[in-house]
Amino acid sequence: MSDIHNKLYMWEGVFWSVDALTTRGPIVKARCPVDKCELNVDSKYKSHLSCPKCDFQIRLNKSFYEKKDDALKIMQSDYFKDAEIVNIDGEMIKINKEVIKDSDYWIETKVSKSIKGVKQLMVLVGSKKETDKTQLFLDIDNEKLSFDQKDKHPREILAKVVAEFKESKSEIELKEGKKSTKNMAKHGKNLGKL
Ligand SMILES: [Zn+2]
Repeated sequence: MSDIHNKLYMWEGVFWSVDALTTRGPIVKARCPVDKCELNVDSKYKSHLSCPKCDFQIRLNKSFYEKKDDALKIMQSDYFKDAEIVNIDGEMIKINKEVIKDSDYWIETKVSKSIKGVKQLMVLVGSKKETDKTQLFLDIDNEKLSFDQKDKHPREILAKVVAEFKESKSEIELKEGKKSTKNMAKHGKNLGKL
């Protein structure tokens, strides 16, 4: 959470800062929008703030103490705005990700691990010029190659797909200008989904 320390967040007419993290929680301060000076909280009207440095004054719609808790939540939401989403409700937990960039095509691979511990390699391939993409799944433990039926068939995007596992090999190939699948796996059912 270190990057919120150097930021001032303008919210409801004042700047908010996180000055330190203590065992009792973060220290949040309201600062003057003119000179960034820490604002004083009126001892009687807790929603009334004033700047000790200039004549800035503001009345918040809640007490400063309630407001600073809200401000902290808003500042922390900024910290998480680019956070990776991991769906632990579903089956797969992402454990690794790699993106390869090319002028015409993009490839993205992810290694996931299910709650049961089954490892899966996902390969996403797409054309930058068109919306075409294909999604391949390699079930590493069960040596199975499959693809997402919602996207293009791998044959429409790729000339050849070879998945080489420890004990078997699965292949998808475009042959003699004709779309066909070829299974070189030792276990014929490996390409069941293709
Ligand atoms: Zn001021």
